[in-house]
Amino acid sequence: MLKQIAILGSTGSIGVNTLDVIRAHPDRFSVVALTAAKQIERLAEQCIEFKPRIAVVADAEGAGRLSKLLADRNVKTQVLYGPEALVTAVTDSGCDAVMAAIVGAAGLVPTLAAAQAGKRVLLANKEALVMSGNLFMQAMKTGGGELLPIDSEHNAIFQCLPDHFTKTPSDHFGVEELWLTASGGPFRDVPITDLADITPDQACAHPNWVMGRKISVDSATMMNKGLEVIEAFWLFGLPLEKIKVFIHPQSVVHSMVRYRDGSVLAQMGQPDMRTPIAYGLAWPERIDAGVAQLNLTQLAGLSFSEPNLSQFPCLSLAFSAAKSGGTAPTVLNAANEIAVAAFLDSGLPYLQIADVVERTLHTVPTAPADSLETILEVDARARQIANDLINKIKS
Ligand code: NAD
Ligand code: MG
Repeated sequence: MLKQIAILGSTGSIGVNTLDVIRAHPDRFSVVALTAAKQIERLAEQCIEFKPRIAVVADAEGAGRLSKLLADRNVKTQVLYGPEALVTAVTDSGCDAVMAAIVGAAGLVPTLAAAQAGKRVLLANKEALVMSGNLFMQAMKTGGGELLPIDSEHNAIFQCLPDHFTKTPSDHFGVEELWLTASGGPFRDVPITDLADITPDQACAHPNWVMGRKISVDSATMMNKGLEVIEAFWLFGLPLEKIKVFIHPQSVVHSMVRYRDGSVLAQMGQPDMRTPIAYGLAWPERIDAGVAQLNLTQLAGLSFSEPNLSQFPCLSLAFSAAKSGGTAPTVLNAANEIAVAAFLDSGLPYLQIADVVERTLHTVPTAPADSLETILEVDARARQIANDLINKIKS
């Protein structure tokens, strides 16, 4: 039986890598739904190749263009548009597994729908989990599906944990700490005082990974690692003080688990997202991911150090939002999305990203994150405040 796959965000970096793995295994996987926001031509090519039942784009204009491109090639994919159609792609496509690879909060509702529907959720969209942690994990539990982390660090930890590990302390089998590695991004060794005039292209030039622009900026500010600490907290259920971050510039060790008896288990490999993607798609089996072998003798050495928080204020802000709990991570994430978009598209200075996030966190009071309505309301409020702050900074 072919496993039926839906990909939310198929035209992005994770989406394209997912299709690359699927393409190599036509005997295992079939694609039943693909979604994208604006890249209509790329989505059309994907539909022509993989012939999904459903394709979703952001708006009617894009849907019209996609329908025409597909009709010209006699492809029968049903074309839908808008946020509700992303949920339809999950619930009505007959998929077994959903790759959640939309960037940012836009992925929350369809990813939650996948959780509720009991699908295997391949979670790349960390922002969805950060903004709704408890709610999302509850939805996975009631839905009864499997949650496979795709973020390379969490995938590494998942691989290094004992088979029957659960969030209950008696099922921790001697696990003491989770050690997340971080490359430190392109500005690892540049003093923060030299970063005032950084351009989007400089911030997106990641030394080891090729990724979408938003996560590339998050890697430069290390907000990405902060989001990942919160992601690890929800996925694995260890207290925050047992989740540590180490700078590891070579990006060979993707993360580690420290055990009570002195053992530290690490997962290593090339910095290539097709490894965690193939792992999630085929779990518990292992399949060829098309990734080059790791050649140990060619590594110049592996180094690890603690991050300097004064160099990375966004990491510090994420730690404090994580400690506050409730809706604080929702606010952190929303303000960061707005600030990063303003840096990428409309000239907000790089160093102001952290300022906007900090001031938004101070302005929006923390509440219990107990319903989707609350989370969406807080998300909208934080976006509005961040936008107001940015307009003031620019005027
Ligand atoms: P990307 O920008 O390359 O792709 C994003 C995808 O989401 C595109 O298909 C785009 O069309 C779609 N999209 C964007 N906004 C949308 C909206 N409003 N509505 C519907 N669709 C929308 O991003 P990416 O690098 O592939 O990252 C995707 C997610 O995976 C992010 O949450 C990121 O943090 C996570 N992630 C990425 C990597 C990586 O290597 N790229 C690694 C770990 C985790
Ligand atoms: Mg990661």
